[in-house]
Order: sequence, then structure tokens, then C-alpha cells
Amino acid sequence: MNVGKPGSLWVVATPIGNLGDLSPRAQQVLRKADVVAAEDTRHSRSLLQHFGIATPLTALHEYNERAAVAALVARLQAGEDVALVSDAGTPLVSDPGFRLVRAAREAGIEVLPVPGACAAIAALSVAGLPSDRFVFEGFLPAKAAARRERLRELAGEARTLVIYESSHRIAECCADLRDAFGAVREARLLRELTKIHETCIGMTLGEIAERVASDPEQRLGECVLVVAGRGEDADAKLAEGRRVFALLRGDMGPAQAAKLAAAISGAPRKALYGKPEMGHAE
Ligand code: SAM
Repeated sequence: MNVGKPGSLWVVATPIGNLGDLSPRAQQVLRKADVVAAEDTRHSRSLLQHFGIATPLTALHEYNERAAVAALVARLQAGEDVALVSDAGTPLVSDPGFRLVRAAREAGIEVLPVPGACAAIAALSVAGLPSDRFVFEGFLPAKAAARRERLRELAGEARTLVIYESSHRIAECCADLRDAFGAVREARLLRELTKIHETCIGMTLGEIAERVASDPEQRLGECVLVVAGRGEDADAKLAEGRRVFALLRGDMGPAQAAKLAAAISGAPRKALYGKPEMGHAE
């Protein structure tokens, strides 16, 4: 391997669909490692076989993590190189591996990333929503009451939100998001990224919830939701409200124009005409 002392832990990202996304460096590390610690050894064996890599595999998943971590740290301390992979994408990102990385660091072992695919970053990079600051929420709670409570807490978040969801809960999740954040909040649903049936739908939570409810195809495969933060939404409504107000103002009085512009854009009427408002309102 090009860097790293013997006895290093390599955290290796694998494809989220398209096998062409396994980098040459990732292939080299997986080939040269003494053992690959994998979430599902059968799944990862077929990936390695596809690339002609014969490195032995050992299981590291949430049910055996404690014992597996101790055994892997012992192997690292004995000078073996260990590569950590998950079923898809970057280990530790809504995937196992945290305890191994932490234990390795506590034992003074070198831990090295081999970056690559991550569904959250792939989705953010193509969503066309503000991306300088964002919040990765991972999976929302599976139970409806807990999910709605979490969404209430997140409704005021100003940064773009990136959310993972499984296909069998996507319809409920989209409906809850629309109810908690409002139908006009800008968002995208990205499905099957890097795969043959890749899609991206938007533009608002209302449209996404409606499309997912009515089109069974949008409830298939793997998906990521990217949702604009609250501030962006309020700013966009205000800009639209001002634009509509200016257009209507030529044909009617300001009070009537503000009333209509507010109804069309969702911006607060007083922000368009009347007493100036403090801060954002939705
Ligand atoms: N560690 C992975 C990563 O780096 O993205 C995430 C693993 S998490 C268990 C699986 C979730 O990631 C899926 O439920 C889905 O939300 C998202 N995901 C994974 N692959 C995807 C893809 N090709 N397209 C869209 N979402 C994907």
C-alpha cells in the first residue's frame, strides 16, 4: 500500500450502485489487506470477486460488533492490515464501523480513509439546493409519532437537510415532511443514484408527496430526500411575493395587490405592503 504503517485500519468506501465507482486505490487496498471486515460477507465477497480480489473476509455487523472489534484490534496490533467496508457507500455513515474505528484510535492504531461513494453527498451534489452548509439527519425514526416529533424539531432548521429513507416508508415520510414543513418548501427526492433507474423529482414537498403517493415507481429502490432549510424557503417566498406584487400593482390598489400576491406566493402580506415585519415569517 502506498501509505500507512503495517497494522493500519483502512476505511474503504464501496459503490452505492455503479461498480465503476470503486476507485483504483480502493481496489489496491482491498487486494493488499490481510482481511476485509464486512457488514455482510456474502454481499462483499461478490464485490471482491467482480474485481478478482481474493482477500479473506470476516463479519462486522451490529450483532457481533463487540466480539469482532476486540478480535480485529488484536489482529491490527499484531501488524495485520484490516480494510473495513459496508454493504454500500461509506462505512460509519448510517452503517456499522464506529466502534471499530474508535477502538482502533484508542489503541493508537493508524486509521486511514479511502474515500468514495456516499449517497448523502451524491444526492446533495445534484439536488440544486444550497449546499455550503447542510445537516445529515440519516434515517428518521421508523414509528410515525416519533418521526413527526423529530420533524417538528427540525422544521425551523435553516440549513439544507439530507435524509435517508427506506422505500417502504417513503410515502409516509414525504407526507409527514409536507405536513411539518409546509407544502411549498423546496425539496428533491433522489432514487437509485448511479443505477439504471436513477430519478430525481421535486421541486416542492407538496409535489413530491403527491407524486410518491400516486406513482408506485417512486416507492421503489433506495432513496435520499434533500430538503431546503427554512430560511431559504422564506426568502424565496418573499422574493416571489415582491415580484407578483409589483406586477399586480399596475392594475389595482396596493392593499388588494398585496393580498393577492401574498395568497399566490405564500409570503406574509405585511412584508409586501404595510408595516415592515421583523425577521422571516412563513
Ligand atoms: N453508508 C451508505 C452511504 O455512504 O451512503 C448508506 C447506508 S444506509 C444503510 C442505506 C441508505 O442509503 C438507503 O436506505 C438510502 O437512503 C441511501 N442509499 C444508498 N444507496 C443509494 C442509492 N444508490 N440511491 C439513493 N439512496 C441510496
